[in-house]
Amino acid sequence: MFKIHCPECKKSFLWTDEMPLQGKCPNPDCRWQYNVHAELRKNVNPTEEEQKTKPLLCPFCQSQITSRITICPNCGHIVTGKRYFKKSWAFLYLCVLLIILSLILKYSN
Ligand SMILES: [Zn+2]
Ligand SMILES: [Zn+2]
Repeated sequence: MFKIHCPECKKSFLWTDEMPLQGKCPNPDCRWQYNVHAELRKNVNPTEEEQKTKPLLCPFCQSQITSRITICPNCGHIVTGKRYFKKSWAFLYLCVLLIILSLILKYSN
């Protein structure tokens, strides 16, 4: 026994073992034909299919990106996982990093 949601009349009904595997929606005004096998498949792995088709999205502009660490083709932000930062910031970080490195080298000699 399990619940079938009719896409035609938007009503749910319970399918029991005594009912045929394929048949008409019990709502007399509705002509939708159910198929228990198809409904079972839908019930079993909706999350699995969702995960498969779920695209990677830029956390800033929500447009699709190709990998977790990339530059978003839409907004130009550098995306690393769920974080993002501007390209100019990355340049700034690099400058600061180079200054710190040069200072370390200077004082270590
Ligand atoms: Zn129906
Ligand atoms: Zn983006």
